[in-house]
Amino acid sequence: MRPVVTTCSYCGVGCTLEVRTLRGRIVKVTSPPDAPANRGNLCVKGRFGHDYVTSPDRLTRPLVRRGDRRTGRLEPASWEEALDLVARRLASVRERYGPGAVAGFSSAKCTNEENYLFQKFLRAVIGTHNVDHCARLCHASSVVAMNLALGATAMTNSIGEIRDHADVILVTGSNTSENHPIVALEMKAAVARGARLILIDPREIELARFATVWLRQRPGTDVAVLSGLAHVIIRDGLWNREFVERFTEGFEELAAAVAHYTPQVVEALSGVPARDVEEAARLYATSPAAAIFWGMGISQHTTGTDNALALVNLALLCGQLGRPGTGLNPLRGQNNVQGAGDMGALPHVLPGYVPVTDAEGRRRFEALWGVRLPEAPGLTATEVTEAACDGRVRALYVMGENPALTDANLNHVRHCLEQLEFLVVQDIFLTETAAMADVVLPAWSWAEKDGTFTSTERRVQRVRRFLDPPGEARADWDILSDLARRLGSDWRYDSAEAIFEEIRRAVPAYAGITYARIEERGLQWPCPAEDHPGTPYLFAGGLPRGRGRFHPVGYLDPAELPDDEFPLILITGRVLYHWHGGVISRRSAGLNEIYPEALVELHPDDAARLGVHDGQMVRVRSRRGEVTAAARVTERSRPGSVFLTFHFAEAAANLLTNDALDPRARIPEFKVAAVAVEAVARS
Ligand code: SF4
Repeated sequence: MRPVVTTCSYCGVGCTLEVRTLRGRIVKVTSPPDAPANRGNLCVKGRFGHDYVTSPDRLTRPLVRRGDRRTGRLEPASWEEALDLVARRLASVRERYGPGAVAGFSSAKCTNEENYLFQKFLRAVIGTHNVDHCARLCHASSVVAMNLALGATAMTNSIGEIRDHADVILVTGSNTSENHPIVALEMKAAVARGARLILIDPREIELARFATVWLRQRPGTDVAVLSGLAHVIIRDGLWNREFVERFTEGFEELAAAVAHYTPQVVEALSGVPARDVEEAARLYATSPAAAIFWGMGISQHTTGTDNALALVNLALLCGQLGRPGTGLNPLRGQNNVQGAGDMGALPHVLPGYVPVTDAEGRRRFEALWGVRLPEAPGLTATEVTEAACDGRVRALYVMGENPALTDANLNHVRHCLEQLEFLVVQDIFLTETAAMADVVLPAWSWAEKDGTFTSTERRVQRVRRFLDPPGEARADWDILSDLARRLGSDWRYDSAEAIFEEIRRAVPAYAGITYARIEERGLQWPCPAEDHPGTPYLFAGGLPRGRGRFHPVGYLDPAELPDDEFPLILITGRVLYHWHGGVISRRSAGLNEIYPEALVELHPDDAARLGVHDGQMVRVRSRRGEVTAAARVTERSRPGSVFLTFHFAEAAANLLTNDALDPRARIPEFKVAAVAVEAVARS
């Protein structure tokens, strides 16, 4: 069996896979030892979690709802009927209410080529910038912060530098071992070499065992803790004066803003001992090469942008940028969430992060696509939901996303989706969102398509077909092209590579990347010319905005705090064996067998007070909904906080989560919600 070399479909690490198949089924997955991100290692999902592609649940024919939107049934239809209907209904909404009444959610699980075409479809065919994707729910705040302060929109350094170059690794808001296991492996290898790990996390995650210092803050107090580190660094003169003078602006404002955050004040606000704040600050500031890594524990807050800005402030203060083993590294979740953003599947930027408000940039795309583009940004995904509720958005096209399970405050989201005149979902399974649709279009999975993904370290890598698609399913780019033609555009793409060639013309950072160049090994953008080697770490020659900008930030309470009625704080997250809404991992037999149901993590003190024992069913209630699941009594959670994953539709954590938004990034506060827990009988 000759293996097909491709890229993992789960997380943004972008591990290289060698997939062997027999009679249409995956029989073995390995990785070459020289794989750039993963050095031959794979986590349990990458090695054993891909049998979902041959699940009998795969969609194989288009489905059209017959009868009333609420009571009618989804029934098989021909492609001709389904696509005609989609084109007719989208055109009708556009004609009656204007292009802004149509919106689309693109997919971080799809390839760059498909994301590029999806946003082009909304912009050039429909005439709206109402396009977004799940980055809105994970790292939108990190992107806003890094763009404001640095002019950058991605992880600055490479995964391989962790093991090879970092002396200090600061990890915060990332359960790296479960969500980016290969990155955690590199961190542990670095610690074995002698690097020191600073962990800032309220939960006792695996990395706590490897940490030199662990700051266990109260959920939602990140700005206070990070400002405390900056306070100590400035107070003790540990900041990098040369870097600050040459490459930054706004130092005095930052110094004034953090003056209040003495270690004692931080201890009072966050519960982190003052001595640990002192130690962490000294470790980070005095290291020859210190790298910061963060995840959604930082970004999914109403203060997500402030949290990320506080991290950027630290890196600028200490000059921990522009060298191997340093940098600001938001760990991107989905396999191609970096690429989806690069391709412009965002409402305020065109491909390559060109603001839609930039007249010159807009004109470049108008010339490339032969259309006029709207001047104002579109709606974010969270704003689209509200607009569906009040009638500003009437038709929604969802490609490979599942807002009816993964958005905050699900009861409200589902109510809003029900208000739409027309919902079309393109996916590989009948997700919770697809089950609400008027038309469902069956798409190819990652195993059946060619294209590229861009990993968290900006590495553009090939995805290759190794299985035939099921039934009548079609490639996402092929469906989009067909729809575009039905709506009057002359799209004639005949392969993923043909689309990539257009991307190279649209996005300067991708201009030097060709399929031939990444045949063996991916390239990291920016790669502006065909003789450019790619860029393992950013800022070697200075910062893109000229000077990095310090942004003073101050601690603000989360939108919802515990009270007498809802006395505990809910933190949501993921576990190693499952993936986001569980759509694919729950259809992978081995993963599902290991971790088959949702578990509510409770600290033993809280469990004793509530009279709950390990394994007992508990009801978790918030102001927005309730779920019932088994309790896991463990000291991993802080006293006063509860942890629940969002993988399981039957115990969907997002029925409980708060949809209050960060004002700049419009990301909901998934990480802090006030809840009550009570024991119930197992039904
Ligand atoms: Fe796949 Fe991520 Fe695991 Fe690598 S770490 S094998 S990319 S899920």
